[in-house]
Amino acid sequence: MPSPYHWIPRSLTALHRAHRYRTVQPVTGKAGAVMLRDGQPLINFASNDYLGLAGDPRLAAAAIEAIETYGTGSTGSRLLSGHRELHRELELALADLKQAEDALVFSSGYLANLSTIAALVGPSDLILSDEYNHSSLRTGAKASGATTYDYRHGDVEHLEQCLAAHRAQHRRCLITTDSVFSMDGDLCPLPHILDLADTYEAMVLVDEAHGTGVLGHRGAGAVEHLGCLGRPMVTVGTLSKALGSLGGYVTGSQAVIDFLRNRAPGWIYTTGLSPADTAAALAAVRIVQAEPQRRQALWHNLDDLKRRLDATLDDGTKPVFQRLPSESPILCLVGTSASQVVAASQRLQEVGLWVSAVRPPTVPTSRLRITLMATHRQDHLEQLTAGLASLVSA
Ligand SMILES: *Cc1c(COP(=O)(O)O)cnc(C)c1O
Repeated sequence: MPSPYHWIPRSLTALHRAHRYRTVQPVTGKAGAVMLRDGQPLINFASNDYLGLAGDPRLAAAAIEAIETYGTGSTGSRLLSGHRELHRELELALADLKQAEDALVFSSGYLANLSTIAALVGPSDLILSDEYNHSSLRTGAKASGATTYDYRHGDVEHLEQCLAAHRAQHRRCLITTDSVFSMDGDLCPLPHILDLADTYEAMVLVDEAHGTGVLGHRGAGAVEHLGCLGRPMVTVGTLSKALGSLGGYVTGSQAVIDFLRNRAPGWIYTTGLSPADTAAALAAVRIVQAEPQRRQALWHNLDDLKRRLDATLDDGTKPVFQRLPSESPILCLVGTSASQVVAASQRLQEVGLWVSAVRPPTVPTSRLRITLMATHRQDHLEQLTAGLASLVSA
């Protein structure tokens, strides 16, 4: 009799053959703009630590103090033994940052999206989802059992066509979108989406994973940057990117948050966020509000790098890499093939530059993905530009 697991090695072989087999590479040392891999220092253009807070001593001090006060684990669900005053403090700080009535903290951003979507809609309902949405929004849509249609990326006309065609046949409707698209760096047309939601009586869930702390005058995210603070919507985010910790959250009206506390299995039946992660995130939310200069440094770096890249990549001939339009610290250079961008990423690594290659099926076109940090220095950007220039002229 064949083993019931015999298909797994075959499946792995197929992944290898398709060049889609994935591995992890360890980095050592503290999170920052420069990290060590195999003893080699690499300038880090691959992390989501936009404000450089993951290695900030104030977050570490807050986490250590929380461990000394509460211990390492929360020991149970928030509804049972796992609730600490610290959780509530973080939720109130997040609600204040987002100018929302209330907030709820989850164990991860992934779980926050999955649980919230599955709590807000069910099999009688409709989800309209941007085709480039993050995996957690797609998984949430599947788990909810709602009828789901993808609308073309950022295309409000297509979204309206979907609403006109399908909305009336369903009880509730939820429109889901990333605010900053993680693999492209562009923003969703949020004001338009909210207008359509008003017209068609639809709820809106916006994923601010890459917006929080980075965009908006106060760092509240793309929702603030696009002038939509205070409009009815549900916002999801992560504590693990600009906030340098681990965990996720939802902000919204009192009623929405109260409902999730009662009806989101991914919050009810899981252990409360660890004291260390909670305290580090709380320290980060305060820094985001108190130190706008971090955001200014990030945007300054971004303008600087865009100018350098455009001068380097466009030498009048057909460009080897095409920079995608971006309104965020995520810059993508689309190449000609998967093997070309993988080779480029390896060449850059040899000269001390850590830039990810992102390939199908994650994205439709192969690209180098550069993420900037507030803590990158001028010479880091110079080295990146020189590294890319040598690829283009090679
Ligand atoms: C990273 C990410 C998430 C998941 O957040 P985690 O806290 O890492 O689970 C959700 N949505 C988007 C758009 C992301 O980029």
